[in-house]
Amino acid sequence: MENRVFDAVVIGGGVVGVSVFNELISNGYTCAIIEKELDVSVGTTKANSGLIHAGFDAEPNTLKAKFNVEGNKLFPSICERLHVDLKKCGAYVVGDDEKVIDELIARGKKNGVTGLHKLNRDKLKKEVPSIADNITYALKADNAYIIDPYFYTICLAEEGVLNGGEIYFNFELNRVTKSSGVFALSNGIDTVYARNIINSTGTKYNEVADILGAEKYDIEYRRGEYYVLDHSEKDIVPSTIFPMPSKAGKGVLVTPTISGNILVGPTSYVSDDKTITTSAGLKDIATKVSNMLTNVNLSKTIRIFSGVRSIIGHDFVVEKSKLQDGVINIAGICSPGLSSAPAIAKYVFNLLGLKPKNVKLQSITPYTKLGQLSIAEKNKLIAKNSDYGKIVCKCEGISLGEIKDAINRPIRPMTMDGIKRRVRAGMGRCQGGFCNDKVAKILAKENNIFLDQVCKEKVGSNYIVGNITSKGETK
Ligand SMILES: Cc1cc2nc3c(=O)[nH]c(=O)nc-3n(C[C@H](O)[C@H](O)[C@H](O)COP(=O)(O)OP(=O)(O)OC[C@H]3O[C@@H](n4cnc5c(N)ncnc54)[C@H](O)[C@@H]3O)c2cc1C
Repeated sequence: MENRVFDAVVIGGGVVGVSVFNELISNGYTCAIIEKELDVSVGTTKANSGLIHAGFDAEPNTLKAKFNVEGNKLFPSICERLHVDLKKCGAYVVGDDEKVIDELIARGKKNGVTGLHKLNRDKLKKEVPSIADNITYALKADNAYIIDPYFYTICLAEEGVLNGGEIYFNFELNRVTKSSGVFALSNGIDTVYARNIINSTGTKYNEVADILGAEKYDIEYRRGEYYVLDHSEKDIVPSTIFPMPSKAGKGVLVTPTISGNILVGPTSYVSDDKTITTSAGLKDIATKVSNMLTNVNLSKTIRIFSGVRSIIGHDFVVEKSKLQDGVINIAGICSPGLSSAPAIAKYVFNLLGLKPKNVKLQSITPYTKLGQLSIAEKNKLIAKNSDYGKIVCKCEGISLGEIKDAINRPIRPMTMDGIKRRVRAGMGRCQGGFCNDKVAKILAKENNIFLDQVCKEKVGSNYIVGNITSKGETK
């Protein structure tokens, strides 16, 4: 590892850390991410509702409200630059209490949110025909989007790397020293040097703050469990449908995803930071959703999963450490952290006291997405390279060519889930039952590693275990 001193090192490659990384690089500064796992977007960023909220829910005059509203406005141009799909499908908050709807609209206006409307039952029923009988009012927010949160984060990280940023994977920070204004960050084997540190480690914030000698907080974890429904259900709702919010959060919602599935969830139970699913949580979702919509068929579930929020009181913490000069603390980034990430990054840039430098950014090339091409375009591609005609993931229609392209990019995915999150091989109805073996072999071959070194996601999650490499046939 080289001995260069970065202007900043970001600890943690979630959407917030990657946004800060990209912001620094885009403004002409040197930056690296250290990430304990094998890819970006493997923490809370991989497991959420994928919504860019309009911003009416956050309490006025909080960082949450400020960052959500600013972030919402930044998403369209960033996604255009990165060739990432972002769909403005709006959102409804539904219930039987007109007063709550009025309060939400007033709060949204205070936060500077436009495009908020109150609907009565008749109007709502026309727009969402499957609304349950007990629902009498709705708030409709025009400026809400759906996005694929991990694909967005991967592309943002790729752009940073293409423009000179470094990401060190499998690098779990466990020691920091400082000498002459330069931090040395070590995982016990390698060391990275930086003038500033950004702690963006999500649920692990306190452990890392301890290592840095920075402020620690009383963090509550809340687990959110979900069902993912098959593509067959994609039209059951026109956009995101929320119940009226409660103290526990925004409640169990039903939303289309950018890739044509339906998400139902999340729960919000006080928990530890483990991403497990429970029968109690799943039952709770089933009851709540049936009070809101009449056409959600949970027997069409293809996967269940959960994500964990870190909560500190009622706001985010984004600040300069008072205990450790040169350290920025980012903690308690629960919802709407995804929506807020671009604005958090700009705020952190200002906290660092840096002035933007004029740099010309190199653009990442768009991912090839066979599913979005016409027959003529597909045929042209296949004529040039027959790998695009070899379908590996039948459920999602993903070809060998797309998987190879995804590996040979600014950040080489090393894991099966890394492929899944880039091109969706293994995301469909069979959840990889038919294509996992093929994907593992492609990964091993393209990355020139043995098959038993291919991991599902985390360090140690080897897809194949055992001494099958002795004859060399697995390479
Ligand atoms: C159920 C649920 C639903 C949500 N829905 C939405 C939504 O629809 N819209 C929205 O705006 N927000 C939503 N959120 C919030 C959003 O997902 C989070 O705010 C956001 O993902 C937080 O990103 P992060 O980068 O802070 O953390 P993470 O994504 O968790 O990233 C932290 C990274 O730090 C790494 N790390 C930890 N310790 C170390 C170490 N010692 N050394 C190196 N690396 C380390 C981890 O491996 C991880 O990759 C939701 C959250 C949940 C849980």
